This record gives sequence, C-alpha cells and structure tokens, in this order.
Amino acid sequence: MTHFDDLTSCQYFETLELAEAKNVGWLSSLYPFAQGQVSKNLLSKLRALAVTQPQNVCRGYHSCELCPIGRFEHLPQIDWRGELLTLGDAEIWVTSLDRIIYVSPNPIIHYIEEHDYSRPSAAR
Ligand SMILES: [Zn+2]
Repeated sequence: MTHFDDLTSCQYFETLELAEAKNVGWLSSLYPFAQGQVSKNLLSKLRALAVTQPQNVCRGYHSCELCPIGRFEHLPQIDWRGELLTLGDAEIWVTSLDRIIYVSPNPIIHYIEEHDYSRPSAAR
C-alpha cells in the first residue's frame, strides 16, 4: 500500500484536481502511526461510506502490511449486515464542514478496528 503522512495534500490521483484534499490513514508497516480510541459513530459512518459510496475503485486489492503473515490472508474484511466485504480496493472520501475532502484507503476501517489507528482530530 502506498504510504502518505496524515493530513498531507492528496495528489495520488492528480487528474481529480483535489486541491482541498488531504490524506488520512495511508498506513505502512514502515512508518509509525497514531493510535487511540475512535468513536463508534465515526466508525459506523466510515463503514457506511465504504459500502455505499466507494471512490476510485480498483480492480485489485491491497493487503494489510500491519497484520501478521497469514492473518486475513493479508486482505482485510469487514462484516456488513451479515456479508463479508473485502477491503483494499477503494477509497473513502469524507468532506468536512469547511469543504476539505479527507481521502482514505478503505482498509482504514480495519486499521481502526484491528490496529487501533486513530485518525487525526482534524479529520474526525
Ligand atoms: Zn491488518
């Protein structure tokens, strides 16, 4: 998975011209990341966005570098209303009240649930 520091300008998809877009949750095993509690409400909203409004969906999947080898066969999944949804193929975009779009890989849900990743406060 590509790594970006949290709240850096999002230039991953340059053609989208997301001038007011910031990266959140592009984790790698090679870089430390913030850990802490994330509200169930935010997690619930991220789950809903991942299912109902996936962005930049790709044909392949990115595995989780943080999981021990063999776990989840490296592909994180979430349970959505009784169905398993594989993550790692799309982004989640969250627009703040001040019109900044926070761009995250959809495994951010897994990072929060399994690795205690904490989004920066500006992106909550
Ligand atoms: Zn993992």
